[in-house]
Amino acid sequence: MAAAKLQVPRGTFDVLPPDGERRRALDAAAAEILGRAGYAAVETPVFEDTALFARGVGESTDIVQKEMFTFEDKGGRSLTLRPEATAGVCRAYVEHGMHKLAQPVKLWCSGPFFRHEAPQAGRYRQFAQIDAEALGSDDPALDAELILLLAELLEGHGVAARLRLSSLGDAETRRGYGDELRAFLREQESRLSVEVRGRLEQNPLRAFDSDHPGTRAVMAGAPRLIDRLEPEDAAHFADVRALLDEAGCEYEVDSGLVRGLDYYTRTVFEFESPALGAQSGVGGGGRYDGLVETLGGPPTPGVGWAAGVERILLAGGATAAGAAPSLAYVAVAKPERARQAFAIARTLRRAGVRTELEQAGRSMKGQMKHADRLGADWVVIVGDELELKDMAGGDQRVVGERDLVEAVSR
Ligand code: AMP
Repeated sequence: MAAAKLQVPRGTFDVLPPDGERRRALDAAAAEILGRAGYAAVETPVFEDTALFARGVGESTDIVQKEMFTFEDKGGRSLTLRPEATAGVCRAYVEHGMHKLAQPVKLWCSGPFFRHEAPQAGRYRQFAQIDAEALGSDDPALDAELILLLAELLEGHGVAARLRLSSLGDAETRRGYGDELRAFLREQESRLSVEVRGRLEQNPLRAFDSDHPGTRAVMAGAPRLIDRLEPEDAAHFADVRALLDEAGCEYEVDSGLVRGLDYYTRTVFEFESPALGAQSGVGGGGRYDGLVETLGGPPTPGVGWAAGVERILLAGGATAAGAAPSLAYVAVAKPERARQAFAIARTLRRAGVRTELEQAGRSMKGQMKHADRLGADWVVIVGDELELKDMAGGDQRVVGERDLVEAVSR
């Protein structure tokens, strides 16, 4: 009986060349841009106690209610593959007493995240995010800085994204507004979608997310949270906006912007790319001044964002790769010279030369064809003599082993 064909699990994918390089280049760009602004690289585990996300992300969110990959370990503990980064970073901040360091503490990370969603273009069950967080200060300059850093990262990757911005105020304002919105929606309940009606009690704000025509018509006349901000929160938002304006960053204030996580306070934002279709969010985030305390830490303001690696690369299309450094191909003219060829390739590589070596038993003719296919600039032919062929000019000459590195570095 033939073995069953093995495939990647639903909603996951293999990263194949040349995407692997593109993903690494994006990570390197993030390290560069964030590093320059004082964000230090961290890593947290890919799985955490389920309670961290239930408490941190919020019981009423889609993520916690429907999308977590939760399992029991052999000790009967409930663990969950991380669906987002902020909760884990905040847990680490508390666990390692980072509130005792000079504030703000600026951190960034990247890696895989997991959500049990219905897969479609740009939406996967395992995806990669780049994530940046600034903890320990409520300075609006941090909100603006983080938004501008994400804009820079997106721009550098050819992503033309629209920025939506809003403020949710503090938890109390949001609660009061939630009651007001709930009452408003109840009066027009018959026009709302079944889903929105089902959510009315727990999270009426989600009605802003709905595509349902009746719900959308109702929402156009709904009271706006942005008009209910306390003076302090309104002033904070005005400061964030002024900094973005001065930096020449375009945005649209959209009071219907609802993020799928419960912990946000004050600033929220999202970058959207029209190139992406239905899953248009490339990156977003906001301020979460109550989260660290919810997780058992001291009251600590924080702000951050997460951006999707796959969506940045999809929306950015093929960015022009920098010219590759020149390539040497070490050809084996006689089988008994294979060891010498191996040593020469190693020497060249250690001297910083990009080098390929014949490793498939090709004929000399086959090797030259292969070198050409690889785009080699030089072929080092290892026979009784050592010869160097310049692939561009066609020139071929005998060369001493000691002169080789210099010859191919030109
Ligand atoms: P969120 O934490 O939901 O705001 O997500 C932040 C970013 O991660 C989004 O803007 C997307 O770019 C990306 N993202 C979220 N969920 C997925 C998914 N299921 N598949 C691919 N990318 C995702």
